[in-house]
Amino acid sequence: MTALFWFRKDLRLEDNPALLQAALSHKTVIPLYILDEGMPLGDAQKWWLHHSLKSLEADLKTTYGISLLLYKGNPEKILSHLMKETKAEGLYWNTCYEPTLYNRDLKIKSQFGAKTFNGSLFFDPPSIKNGQGTFFKVFTPFYKACLEKLPPLDPKGKPHSLGKPPSLKSDTLDDWNLLPQNHNWANAFATYWTPGESEARKALQRFLKTGLEHYGINRDFPASKSTSQLSPHLHFGEISVQEALHEANKSRAPQGDRHKFQSELFWREFSYHLLFHFPELPHKNFNPKFDKFPWADKAHFFKAWSKGQTGYPLVDAGMRQLWQTGWMHNRVRMVVASFLTKDLLIQWQKGAAWFYDTLVDADVASNFASWQWVAGCGADAAPYFRVFNPILQSQKFDPKGDYIRTWVPELKDLPDQFIHAPWLAPEEALKKAGISLGHTYPHPLVDHNKARALALHLYGSI
Ligand code: FAD
Repeated sequence: MTALFWFRKDLRLEDNPALLQAALSHKTVIPLYILDEGMPLGDAQKWWLHHSLKSLEADLKTTYGISLLLYKGNPEKILSHLMKETKAEGLYWNTCYEPTLYNRDLKIKSQFGAKTFNGSLFFDPPSIKNGQGTFFKVFTPFYKACLEKLPPLDPKGKPHSLGKPPSLKSDTLDDWNLLPQNHNWANAFATYWTPGESEARKALQRFLKTGLEHYGINRDFPASKSTSQLSPHLHFGEISVQEALHEANKSRAPQGDRHKFQSELFWREFSYHLLFHFPELPHKNFNPKFDKFPWADKAHFFKAWSKGQTGYPLVDAGMRQLWQTGWMHNRVRMVVASFLTKDLLIQWQKGAAWFYDTLVDADVASNFASWQWVAGCGADAAPYFRVFNPILQSQKFDPKGDYIRTWVPELKDLPDQFIHAPWLAPEEALKKAGISLGHTYPHPLVDHNKARALALHLYGSI
């Protein structure tokens, strides 16, 4: 008895419910991955996917002595062909809850009687409903409802065997050219990241040893490196959320820190449930009042923002961290997103698209839900009058300027008290630090106080 197992956003062997079930029910399991070009991937994600698949190929070889089959094209056609060729009696996968993938897969599921499992979330989105029988639009009651239903966490190991699959024709990873060809932008990511299941587990253990204790406070300080950096690993399913939470709960860190980490995993969950029920989330304002907002959309403002050249050091540090590492600290993501939408009055969709292309953890649910949250038009969003002050945020969360000095080295010799707003520094201090505003570092693109007043006026008018 043979079954096909379709890897998707669950690039792991352990705690993989569909893979386990396929192995329990069938003597032979043929593992495969399909690159569906109809489903857009950001460039940074392509880099991650390439390396994650390479790692999965190696894990399948060393654990079971078998290969991962790779195909590019329309999944329905590819699966139909493979089902016939291998005479497979079963098809298994873990559900992707992004509506475009979910709807694409429904048809394939009914055509082949595929067995599907939840391998990426704590709950199937339709199973969490509010008192009116519809989905939650506010995080706190959603979280409470989830915790009331959360079963004991019991992550499983990997299957003992996948049998001896026949050798079949397959692409090679290099055929797909996932790695950016023309510049070495993404090559630098390897300095910061190692994709794959075993690295995901190592990242979790590193976090439990060095980050979870005091996570509740330190998580807001970008220089402290105290968050888990699990987001790309979770996005690609290299580790399950159940395993991450189970391990955190076993740790000796204070309960407050463990609960804070748990709640962040449920912000991820909340974003997925929102997207599932509001599939237009990536492009349409959740709050339709925002449809009338008069965005300014100045191209040179957007360019300065994306290149980390706004003249606001914390914003520039964040945007350069993103470009250089494919990741940005959460506090800084909020600051740069607020700066784009409220100080520069640029449509949130443009910022979200830039993030989607450059983040290694780019996620249709978390990215677009978070952008809508910051812009004020999302579910349970920050109120429109909450405009992050990039100078105060910098003074509060990067008081010594360590984060800024890492990513904006041209400011590194400026004393702490001036590093958050260099244009307020005396000429002498700038000179001593080798800074010439407008030459070595830009003047601020806008005056935050004036920009804030204009944003409030425009937001108030809708
Ligand atoms: P930790 O603090 O260690 O948190 C653990 C896990 O919880 C994360 O790995 C992530 O899966 C989840 N998580 C934490 N915070 C959030 C949050 N606010 N919303 C949803 N899930 C959360 N996260 C993504 O995974 N992909 C995105 O594309 C993405 N885009 C974002 C865009 C904006 C404008 C903002 C403000 C936030 C975005 N986030 C996104 C959420 C958050 O910034 C990242 O998940 C977090 O910074 C990842 O770092 P970490 O793994 O160290 O987080």
